[in-house]
Amino acid sequence: MGQCRFCERKGFFLSVDTNGLCENCAPQVLHDITQRHRIIEDCLRLARDGKTFATRLSRCDLLFEHLEHLLQYENKGIPTLTPSPSDILSEFKGYRDKLIIEEAQKVAQKAKEKSEVASTITAKHNALANGLLKSQEIIRNTSDASVGEELERGFKYLMYKVKLDGFLEAAKKAEFKGNNKKAIDQYQEALFLIRNDDIPDDQQGVEIQQIEAKLIELGA
Ligand SMILES: [Zn+2]
Repeated sequence: MGQCRFCERKGFFLSVDTNGLCENCAPQVLHDITQRHRIIEDCLRLARDGKTFATRLSRCDLLFEHLEHLLQYENKGIPTLTPSPSDILSEFKGYRDKLIIEEAQKVAQKAKEKSEVASTITAKHNALANGLLKSQEIIRNTSDASVGEELERGFKYLMYKVKLDGFLEAAKKAEFKGNNKKAIDQYQEALFLIRNDDIPDDQQGVEIQQIEAKLIELGA
């Protein structure tokens, strides 16, 4: 007794082809597979070699759409592609995440470089804040939340350092100019920042001691 793998119709007189399809289903199924095969080939190429990140990402998503459609055939035992849709899917899910993470890291790196060469504390801080926002927007597309958290921690620490260095620099400058009142104020700002950051205070013991010693020296 023959049974069609697609429509599941069966009967003594039902004949199926080598793919296990009845004569009703065979033409439309094969046509569908051929069409999608062509699109998939195109997506595979552009997902890897597309000029921009946006192209590569959108081709990945289009690829998934067509592969998921072909999965319904694969699940019924109808031959489709080699490697199979499920194999390509699992390979490219990982590839898509990698693509996103690399792009986010690239954007983050650019922002950090911009911050390093910026001339004012505010400009340094803004470059980092902007970079954090941009890379978070990109990373939102991935299934891996831990990457975004790590990226955020890195940025937050750099922003904190920029602020802290700003206070310490201003304090030293004021001290140099003999403006003790301003120096004390800036050292106190630095101390407040250290005490209220997310880094455990015992890891910053040396900095805290140095600033406290400075404050005593300046007669605070
Ligand atoms: Zn059929």
